[in-house]
Amino acid sequence: MKSRVNWLVGLATELAAVMAMAACGHQAAITPPQIHYGEEVCAFCQMTIDDSRFAAALIYRTPDGSQKIATFDDIGCMLAWQREHAADRTIAAFVHDYKSRQWIKAAGAWYARSTAIRTPMGWGIAAGRTETDAEAAASRGKLKPMDFSELWFTAQNTQGAAK
Ligand SMILES: [Zn+2]
Repeated sequence: MKSRVNWLVGLATELAAVMAMAACGHQAAITPPQIHYGEEVCAFCQMTIDDSRFAAALIYRTPDGSQKIATFDDIGCMLAWQREHAADRTIAAFVHDYKSRQWIKAAGAWYARSTAIRTPMGWGIAAGRTETDAEAAASRGKLKPMDFSELWFTAQNTQGAAK
């Protein structure tokens, strides 16, 4: 009987450990932050973040191993910040779908860059969940949407506003 109780205690301990691990796993799931619009400032340009359509966020790890979050008012500010913080490792990057204003993962999104897109810091970048969404964001300009690597390349090779 004693061994059965011990077994049960053992099982309960194991279950608790599994549940704790599951809880940790849940906590570690990378989700975009909640931005307090009109209060929070952009990590790059220090301007207040007002427009969710162009707001972006980075979750990153510093060289000393701590995990941090940076939020931005313009997708271009995020790219510029990344260029200046090469030592920090990006864990996840998020942008907003221009149309629905929902967070989407930056790496899987489509981008349009045009002077027709008025963004807070003039980078002229809008993101869409699909190529068609990105195209719609730039409906006034005739351009081909880019994926994240193309956007990254373009942004790293041009300073500031869209051409
Ligand atoms: Zn900014």
